[in-house]
Amino acid sequence: MIKKLTCIACPQGCPLIAEIGQGRVSKVSGNKCPKGEEYAKQEIENPQRVLTSTILTQGLALKMAPVRTNKPIPKNKILEAMSEIKKLRLNRPVKVDEVIIENFMELGVDLITTRTVD
Ligand code: SF4
Repeated sequence: MIKKLTCIACPQGCPLIAEIGQGRVSKVSGNKCPKGEEYAKQEIENPQRVLTSTILTQGLALKMAPVRTNKPIPKNKILEAMSEIKKLRLNRPVKVDEVIIENFMELGVDLITTRTVD
């Protein structure tokens, strides 16, 4: 199977062609540097995304506090992570980039705030 994708590892946006067999990438072409091959392999074999969301607050100036994971998480964990975030309540002031939950869902990433909420 052949899959076309665009490398997003730098602004050049090389068009990549990945040859896939049994769920694994066997060959990548179109990349101008090794990062393109890495990107194609990760995107096809283990796609990941940084999750951004909001959590409800209690007794703070804003009703919702914006949060994100500080590193990408597996794409197949996004829905479960959204459910976990929905259960959270923030009841203390936080600074931007403050850790809300360390090792969120034991994924090796932290859930952090993206703005100060008093
Ligand atoms: S393959 Fe290399 S040069 Fe091309 S977009 Fe990816 S990182 Fe940039």
